Amino acid sequence: MARYTGPVCKLCRREGMKLFLKGDKCFSNCTIEKRPMPPGPHAQRRGRKVSDFGLQLREKQKARRIYGVLERQFRRHFEAAEKRPGLTGENLLLVLEMRLDNVVYRLGLADSRSQARQIVRHGHIIVNGQKTDIPSYICKPGDEIRVADASKGNEYFQTVQLSLPRKQIAGWMSVSASNLAGRMERVPTRDELGIDLNEQLIVEFYSR
Ligand code: SF4
Repeated sequence: MARYTGPVCKLCRREGMKLFLKGDKCFSNCTIEKRPMPPGPHAQRRGRKVSDFGLQLREKQKARRIYGVLERQFRRHFEAAEKRPGLTGENLLLVLEMRLDNVVYRLGLADSRSQARQIVRHGHIIVNGQKTDIPSYICKPGDEIRVADASKGNEYFQTVQLSLPRKQIAGWMSVSASNLAGRMERVPTRDELGIDLNEQLIVEFYSR
């Protein structure tokens, strides 16, 4: 399963904002705060007026990078969002939020979405009693997500267990630190996501 393996701070510099791709490190030693210009030798030229297409493209790229999803998969999520009732842009963000890697991140079992993805890929996560190692699995309300019993003793999850009570957990989840487990209680609302994105631009990008 393909994933982006290049330097992640470069992605923030390209989008001109903090995307929080490195977990806690983003709060203490952030590259974009030291070098707030886009990467590459022609950074200055990029200050020119951006076309509508450019704005739409940037918003789509930003969403992809926040959620750590490659183009083909992102497109599939968009198509799934189109089939759901309601606003396609909002649906897209909700589909992205309900990906298993994002749910693991939102439950506080990982510091970043990329770390959550790795935890899922390595088979540490059980969904509704079944080992699930597919980061793009779309969770639904009522799903029980927990750390596999065999993984609970490892040093990483023991540290997570100690820090979980201090973490801010998304309002649409419930979590039990003692069991290293959580539950998706409901579908979040757009306002709860706290993601600085204009999803309508993404809809326009794919509607060209
Ligand atoms: Fe982005 Fe985090 Fe790197 Fe800052 S430290 S540039 S927020 S990935």
